[in-house]
Amino acid sequence: MTQVTEVRDAEAELLERVPHQLFINGEWVAASADRTLDVVDPATGRVIRTISNASVADGAAAMDAAVAAQADWAATAPRVRAEILRRTFDLLQERKEQFALLMTMEMGKPLAEARGEVAYGGEFLRWFSEEAVRVSGRYGENPEGTGRMIVTQQPVGPCFLITPWNFPLAMATRKIAPALAAGCTVVIKPAELTPLTTLLFVALLEEAGLPAGVVNVITTSESAAVSGPIIADPRLRKLSFTGSTPVGKALIRQSAENVLRTSMELGGNAPFLVFADADLDKAADGAMIAKFRNIGQACTAANRFLVHESVADEFARRVTERVNKFVVGRGTEEGITIGPLINAAAVAKSDALVQDAVSRGAVVHTGGTALDGPGTFYAPTVISGVTAGSDILAEEIFGPVLAITTFADDDEAVRLANDSNFGLIGYVFTADFARGQRMMERLETGMLGLNTGVVSNAAAPFGGVKQSGLGREGGLEGIREYLSTKYTLTPDP
Ligand code: NAD
Repeated sequence: MTQVTEVRDAEAELLERVPHQLFINGEWVAASADRTLDVVDPATGRVIRTISNASVADGAAAMDAAVAAQADWAATAPRVRAEILRRTFDLLQERKEQFALLMTMEMGKPLAEARGEVAYGGEFLRWFSEEAVRVSGRYGENPEGTGRMIVTQQPVGPCFLITPWNFPLAMATRKIAPALAAGCTVVIKPAELTPLTTLLFVALLEEAGLPAGVVNVITTSESAAVSGPIIADPRLRKLSFTGSTPVGKALIRQSAENVLRTSMELGGNAPFLVFADADLDKAADGAMIAKFRNIGQACTAANRFLVHESVADEFARRVTERVNKFVVGRGTEEGITIGPLINAAAVAKSDALVQDAVSRGAVVHTGGTALDGPGTFYAPTVISGVTAGSDILAEEIFGPVLAITTFADDDEAVRLANDSNFGLIGYVFTADFARGQRMMERLETGMLGLNTGVVSNAAAPFGGVKQSGLGREGGLEGIREYLSTKYTLTPDP
């Protein structure tokens, strides 16, 4: 009992320390009219923190601050910008337990996974602190020999960053770090369901010495109303969005008005292919990560398990055996491996997709039901025999449901895998490297995990094709999203 009380005290103390106001021009300020919004722990349904709820006027003030700070920040030496990012990385390592606990409380993922996100999210700070000093152009003679061509890279200018709730730290650092490294100022709007991690992170940037106005944060329950005028502001130069495809499409339409540069990291519907020659234990282990990481709430989550018909029963048996070992509960507790879904709507969606698949002939191996509250939990589920036309094959599940269907040969595997409007990532398990290479070339995705269930890495270009988005985050490509190319011609000297 004493131990439980101590844990709860640590949580309360941490929540007290999380800023609860907007961060505009280097100051923590209340929203106009003192409006607030409540943040809820999805494992308990309890309000954990009440924070400022920005209005359109607050959004405009944040935009003014980003515009005012742009020229000085662009003129700040790359090394100075790099060192602020590096100091933030170091501070994050010191405070990693706080960030992990906070993410578990506001989003629900088990603490061990939250620690993993701190490590992953932190790497964008380190990677882009190193990239900030490597931005360069080129100098050359034109083909006619009559002039010299100088190509340089300049910061795009003030950026608006919109992030989702599922990776509260990593989605923020994946955008903020390259923007700052490139010399851009930003307004960031985290998801209203999980804004606390971004607020705590921005306090870290402040502590690391970031000048006023370079990063501004607005938290709001009126995302569309507050974002609209920012996107329409002719001083804005770039919109970077991570979230669902329908919202992404609406934002692309809005961005067309000012021909705004956009990066769009949207939804996925990842195929997970298991060939007859695959190591089935490795494939089952990979499936646990690709499917159940973040309680299935990842854009990279394996959505459709396409398994060769000769090994489908055995694969189903091995994944079910593993899924039955999961322990469901509040992610802060010792030994929990599956936390809650983000809200009741997410539970209802998983359940509806499973019921639809079952009504069309699928078989439930384990799970298949919502779990009693408090909190919004869905039982980790395995279903097989999913038939063509089932909603679960077309929609992003975003829950802990592993759905298996079969294929007869490689061509059918490729046809089924590519039968989607999405193209973020695919997973392929095979012992034949040449077959793996063929899949690499034939699958219509931006990323591929070949005999692995997780690919995300700050040093690699993350992003999709088709309706999964535009642009790449991370890697050498990540900073280019925040740079404009300028070409100058001079006469032959
Ligand atoms: P969402 O689209 O509902 O919301 C994302 C963000 O957009 C939130 O901050 C939200 O407040 C804001 N928003 C919503 N409507 C808006 C509007 N009309 N104008 C401006 N902002 C608006 O998505 P979500 O439910 O938070 O996140 C889940 C989705 O994100 C899934 O589809 C998932 O695949 C996708 N996702 C993609 C990636 C990727 O890198 N491709 C990464 C994580 C999540």
